[in-house]
Amino acid sequence: MRRLYEPMAYGPDPIAGSFWPTTVDAVPVHAPVNGALEAEIAIIGAGFTGLNAALALAEAGRDVVVLEAEQPGWGASGRNGGFCCLGGAKAGPATLLKRYGEADTQAYYNAEHAAVDHVASILDHHGIDADTHSQGETLLAFRPKDIAVLEGLAEEMRRFQRVESELLPRDALPERGFASPEFHGALTTPIGFALNPMKYALGLARAVQAAGGRIFGHSAVTKIGRDNGRHVLTTAGGQLRAKSLIAATNGYSSDDLPGWMAGRYLPVQSNVLVTRPLTDEELAAQGWTSHQMCYDTRHLLHYFRLMPDKRMLFGLRGAMKTTPRAHDQTRAIARADFDRIFPEWQHVETPHFWSGLLALSRNLVPFAGPIGGMENAWTAMCYHGNGVAMGSYAGRLLAAQITGEGPATPALLRSDPGRFELGRWRRAVLLFAYTFYGLQDRG
Ligand SMILES: Cc1cc2nc3c(=O)[nH]c(=O)nc-3n(C[C@H](O)[C@H](O)[C@H](O)COP(=O)(O)OP(=O)(O)OC[C@H]3O[C@@H](n4cnc5c(N)ncnc54)[C@H](O)[C@@H]3O)c2cc1C
Repeated sequence: MRRLYEPMAYGPDPIAGSFWPTTVDAVPVHAPVNGALEAEIAIIGAGFTGLNAALALAEAGRDVVVLEAEQPGWGASGRNGGFCCLGGAKAGPATLLKRYGEADTQAYYNAEHAAVDHVASILDHHGIDADTHSQGETLLAFRPKDIAVLEGLAEEMRRFQRVESELLPRDALPERGFASPEFHGALTTPIGFALNPMKYALGLARAVQAAGGRIFGHSAVTKIGRDNGRHVLTTAGGQLRAKSLIAATNGYSSDDLPGWMAGRYLPVQSNVLVTRPLTDEELAAQGWTSHQMCYDTRHLLHYFRLMPDKRMLFGLRGAMKTTPRAHDQTRAIARADFDRIFPEWQHVETPHFWSGLLALSRNLVPFAGPIGGMENAWTAMCYHGNGVAMGSYAGRLLAAQITGEGPATPALLRSDPGRFELGRWRRAVLLFAYTFYGLQDRG
């Protein structure tokens, strides 16, 4: 496997401190592939993308097998911040309109909304209790001039989502439970909710099995071959032959599985800190009592939410490398940012810190479509840090592309993302991006 990051990124250490495993009872262990297997459709990767594709395919009566290198939800899907919200493209509406025109851009924004609805209906339909909370999401201006950013987003929401967002000036923030010296205004958009990502991922895996899909754990695919019109996937324990293939590996992809992936995704690290439960007195002292999921107007944004058990989850992008040293440095940066934003909680312990990889694309738009140059092969990836909803829906869209039934994929999601420059050294792009955006984010 030709992967971009240090070996630590693909091992257990980045999630040793994750909060999510402490919230679930015994996690079922899926046995590895042992011997020769046949299926109609093979899926590599049991995250939100792969599991949603598997669920829709199994429910449509298709014979589907999921091969996961670790266990379901091991990747970004079982370790993210749980913001189920609009988003997916990093390119803004002006770029999308110029590149793809009005109709395709609107179809894409409709898909962002459909993605949130899709997750809500999966939770509901399959009885998955994922500790949901938050009425939409709230964007906070970290400097006075960013009120203009909030106004711009309100206009976008009006135009593309046909909803009215609520703009709050600085002096209204404390009474709404958003008191922090850092913020100068807020915009709440009434779409989306927060969830416990591990409960969602495990619930999805259960639903796949209940619908007749098979899931194998500890079954990393090391080779994709072709024999007699079938894809042949090799794992340490055996081989799976299947007519159709979905690669659902996103930030954990390899440049050679399949070769078309090379240069078409850029893994980026995101990091999360979680406090112990805060007391009511501590919440009152800070004046932060809202359970809204929030993010700020920085390019290198912070995302945070007071969870139902009164722990604060606090996330941030960044770190060029996944090494023990970088892990400790990023933890220290996260803690310093947390202390600045919530100064009354400087004494509050943050026992949980972890990180994982998401993916960006060269054209800054997610992809959900056929893999070029391969017959009967698809992939979906690059949700730009918004894969809870968009990754789930992209999996659903791939299933529809295979069966010919279900939601149509917007043209924009099927356009080839293109390759990053610098090949396997493309991570260097992040150094420029972090420096450039870091400068822009200065107060
Ligand atoms: C710390 C963090 C916080 C985030 N917060 C949010 C958030 O709040 N809201 C949001 O919308 N998005 C968030 N994201 C992004 C979101 O989690 C991802 O976009 C989404 O989970 C991607 O799902 P996926 O199924 O495509 O990929 P993943 O969940 O990463 O799954 C890919 C799977 O493929 C497996 N795999 C890889 N190679 C092989 C192989 N060769 N053989 C077998 N299996 C293989 C991996 O083991 C992995 O389990 C966050 C990401 C991170 C890392």
